[in-house]
Amino acid sequence: MEKAIAYIRVSSDRQVQDGTSLVTQERRVKEYAATKDYDLLRIFVEEGETAKTDRRTELQAMLAFSKQHKGRIQVLIFPKIDRFARYIEDYYSLKATLRNSGMRVESADESFDDTPAGRFMETVLAGQAQFDNDLRAERSKGGMREAVLQGRWVWAAPVGYRNVRVNNKATIEPDPDKAPKIVEAFNLLASGRRPLDVRVWLREHGVLVGRSRFFTMFRSKAYLGIIEAFGVVQQGAPPFLPLVSESVFRRAQEAFRPARPRNGYQYDNPDFPLRGTLRCYCGSLLTASWSSGRQKRYPYYRCKSCPRVNLPLNAAHGAWLCALQQTASECLLPLKDEADFLVSAQQETQALREQVRNMERTIERFREIQKNIVLKNAEGVTPDTLARQQISELEDKIVETELEIDRLSVDDVNIQEAAQFARNFLTNICSIWEKANLSTKKHIQRFFFPKGGTVVSDPLCRTAKKADLTGSASSPGARLSSVGYHSDEAPHMLSRGYAQCIRELYREFGK
Ligand SMILES: [Zn+2]
Repeated sequence: MEKAIAYIRVSSDRQVQDGTSLVTQERRVKEYAATKDYDLLRIFVEEGETAKTDRRTELQAMLAFSKQHKGRIQVLIFPKIDRFARYIEDYYSLKATLRNSGMRVESADESFDDTPAGRFMETVLAGQAQFDNDLRAERSKGGMREAVLQGRWVWAAPVGYRNVRVNNKATIEPDPDKAPKIVEAFNLLASGRRPLDVRVWLREHGVLVGRSRFFTMFRSKAYLGIIEAFGVVQQGAPPFLPLVSESVFRRAQEAFRPARPRNGYQYDNPDFPLRGTLRCYCGSLLTASWSSGRQKRYPYYRCKSCPRVNLPLNAAHGAWLCALQQTASECLLPLKDEADFLVSAQQETQALREQVRNMERTIERFREIQKNIVLKNAEGVTPDTLARQQISELEDKIVETELEIDRLSVDDVNIQEAAQFARNFLTNICSIWEKANLSTKKHIQRFFFPKGGTVVSDPLCRTAKKADLTGSASSPGARLSSVGYHSDEAPHMLSRGYAQCIRELYREFGK
């Protein structure tokens, strides 16, 4: 018969409501020892609040006892992992200490065997205990916000980082194993590799990320060492360090832009900046090339499917500038009256704040559900694989919601300053576009025409004249209609409101 000891801990505030009273815990470990046929030698009972290992006298006594009886006791039973250790490091170090005395640990209410799934659950539960504890600590001090101002990351660590404690305060640091792989993934994305290839690359290097999480994680400014929360933008303090530079981060974002065509390289030609933006009336993106004349070569945008759509470059660019100007003028209209604009911006801001609060509540609910899944799994109701999948799906939703909260953040931009910038930018949009380098040109194109712009042949359009003025060869008139812009996808003006659009414009181009 194997010999066992047990360790239980009571904290007075929660005893009654959730069945962690001394009696319940004692009964559980006794029942457990009986079903396992262990000889239960002694139960160590810790009474008091503290979760810190070194201040728990009974825990120390238990460790001394097991050392003293080294080789004669095989098992330590605790009712639940969170009764045993509050910090994930503590949990594993206590486990290691006991292993040195020839002992293993077992939880009466949670089952985790020595299989990959079992070890996963063990980590989740130990992590959950730590998370609860961190949260309690942070909240009791009145200060997640305070923590952010100190440059600490107090949520679950993004992939590539790990949660740590410095002077007993929670933050994150680069994970020595995963961080280099995340850095390489950023570099691959920045150099134009397709996101899905990069995801495969990560998997091959032992970093597993769920699909939707993969598509959101690279937008997290955590990788720049930046915390954005509670309307505060704060540079992280060591050991929370950035993993990538701003330029790599920005270029990696491009890889996720929906308008980017699959074989992106052929669109990166400075002669034809509108490739990837202009669409034929049949819906295809226009391609472009030089065609040989008798003495000279002429640049054209063409449709692969429609042989008759053959648009001289100057005509196309003229038409484009016309459409851009028109869209920018529409954006400019509500800015004309500054006082009016500021009043409506304020109303919009309040609505956005309410929206952010709702999303924060949603996140809390997701966390609550995650916790329930873990408990249900521990009780054996939900199988491990399902629990694991549900937890990671919820984590994805949480990250997406957090990112959306970031995007909606209204306090990092001075709205008057943004309006000032936008007025100037929108008024001069055509010359700004003409003078810009290729990547800025494409950035502008995507901002105003996220789904591209369709070329419609129209000999009466005034853009034909404009095209003539810019010196094109025989130009069939062309007009652009901004299909993407006014459709359900119009992300800048309609779905988030006008003031938010001005802020985004400022964030994207103003800095
Ligand atoms: Zn076509």
